[in-house]
Amino acid sequence: MAVDSVTSSPLGPPATEKDAKALQFIEEMTKNCDSVQENVLCEILSQNAEAEYLKKWNLGGATDRKTYKSKVPVVSYEDLQPYIQRIANGDRSNILSSHPISEFLTSSGTSAGERKLMPTIAAEMDRRQKLYSLLMPVMNLYVPGLDKGKGLYFLFIKAETKTPSGLVARPVLTSYYRSQQFKTRPYDPYNVYTSPNETILCVDSFQSMYSQMLCGLIYHKQVLRCGAVFASGLVRAIKFLTLNWQQLTNDIETGYLNPKITDPNIRACISKILKPDPALARFVTGQCCEGNWEGIITRIWPNTKYLDVIVTGAMAQYIPILDFYSGNLPQTCTMYASSECYFGLNLTPMVKPCEVSYTIMPNMGYFEFIPHDSVSNSDDSAPQLVDLADLELGKEYELVISTYSGLCRYRVGDILRVTGFHNSAPQFKFIRRKNVLLSIDADKTDETELQFAIEKASELLKEFNTAVVEYTSYGDTKTIPGHYVIYWELLVKDPGHGPGQEVLDQCCLAMEECLNSVYRQSRVADNSIGPLEIRVVKNGTFEELMDYAISRGASINQYKVPRCVSFTPIMELLDSRVVSTHFSPKAPHWVPERRF
Ligand code: AMP
Repeated sequence: MAVDSVTSSPLGPPATEKDAKALQFIEEMTKNCDSVQENVLCEILSQNAEAEYLKKWNLGGATDRKTYKSKVPVVSYEDLQPYIQRIANGDRSNILSSHPISEFLTSSGTSAGERKLMPTIAAEMDRRQKLYSLLMPVMNLYVPGLDKGKGLYFLFIKAETKTPSGLVARPVLTSYYRSQQFKTRPYDPYNVYTSPNETILCVDSFQSMYSQMLCGLIYHKQVLRCGAVFASGLVRAIKFLTLNWQQLTNDIETGYLNPKITDPNIRACISKILKPDPALARFVTGQCCEGNWEGIITRIWPNTKYLDVIVTGAMAQYIPILDFYSGNLPQTCTMYASSECYFGLNLTPMVKPCEVSYTIMPNMGYFEFIPHDSVSNSDDSAPQLVDLADLELGKEYELVISTYSGLCRYRVGDILRVTGFHNSAPQFKFIRRKNVLLSIDADKTDETELQFAIEKASELLKEFNTAVVEYTSYGDTKTIPGHYVIYWELLVKDPGHGPGQEVLDQCCLAMEECLNSVYRQSRVADNSIGPLEIRVVKNGTFEELMDYAISRGASINQYKVPRCVSFTPIMELLDSRVVSTHFSPKAPHWVPERRF
């Protein structure tokens, strides 16, 4: 029920006084988009005026957009890497930021096979927290009564490393869940999770998932929303349930926690929640024992009103399976963020995934945009960057950010399309990430990495006088977890001595060993990607593929083999020509340490 004592927001009637303030903040920011941006840039430039990086560009104390744009270049991670490396090595001078670097956030984007390192400052945590605090007030406009139950969220931390200078390097969500802001968050009836902090803060992915699922089952009647950060996480959780429900129900039946859960903090907190409950055990068994997973979410958690997961961008591939698991519950994408900067939120979270637009909050950083037309021709001519308040409806842009932590005119790599405005703030549909060929979970594999992996793997074929003449790839999410499929057309010069099953299996592993550390971490530590598969196709298949493309209007002169495919007729063609399939026989090498 909306509160009477507060003025209704143009976004809708707020549920509480606190919500009213949050909605008012959104209104203020979006109404004054341009002046907020001007102030943010001024603050960033004043704050970091003494940083080596900004001094290099001789701004002479100027904090205005015109001078900034004319003097400071647009950069990518590789341009900043020497500065970042010095920070990692322990140089404590003001390199990018005048504020001390509190830690490194490890992005899922990679550079030279390793996660990118994003230096951050303590104050950024508050800025992220501020964006989080806006999500529920918006959701409460659409789904009343969320204070009457709990959220079943599968949230995970990942292994941390330390730079040679002792700074922690970890993913942004690990940093957030480990922060005091999260651990000691004040009680908020709209944000009560089934997962106790201890179950989230366990780096062992099995123990964390098991205990979070167990709590979710125990509180099943109270669950009003189910989620994970990305759709792949929720799909993985449900798959986990399909594999572990017997042990989970056994724990519920007996009141004894599975001995495989050895983390003392988890054991201590679960012991307070887990009591023998044969009726609940029977109920869960009844839902799972026939192996029918259709609508399992709403059968086990019958009061669930929506799924809170990001299903835009690469995650759109999981919409059908989540529809299946949930009996078509709404899938809400609430926010758009990255390790470099949190960007914004979805002001109409109940719309269909294909209609989702995010409103970038102008207080989060200074945002510029490269018109997408100039992205393709941008290598030699300097593109004209456009400000947040000057974007045009329907156009596509690449996002460039300047942050309080010291990134200046940094290309994020995301392509966005303007779909509308809230007040004067543009709203964006996430179109795609530049240069990403394959993505199953947090991994992002580009064409160069795939090419390199194929070259390395095909070295194993040399002694069999065999070469890979053509290849393409496919991110197969029909299996859970999803996995990379690589189609190979081989030239076997001596058919009597071609590579056997075992050699081709080893080629799968050799490819995995070459893929970036986010891929290998997902394979090894998170089990969120399955073994890589090679499908060898008949000779001539790729020529047929070209014929098909030409029959659909491709130019014969400019035809290039697509290095990633997903279009059904092409998949059908490829799959109908498969002569053998091969899987990686074991997990590739991965350790939490990184090379600095
Ligand atoms: P990371 O730096 O590893 O946190 O990855 C950030 C990237 O994830 C962004 O730059 C986007 O490419 C992608 N991403 C984050 N939020 C969303 C979203 N809501 N929809 C689509 N892609 C997203």
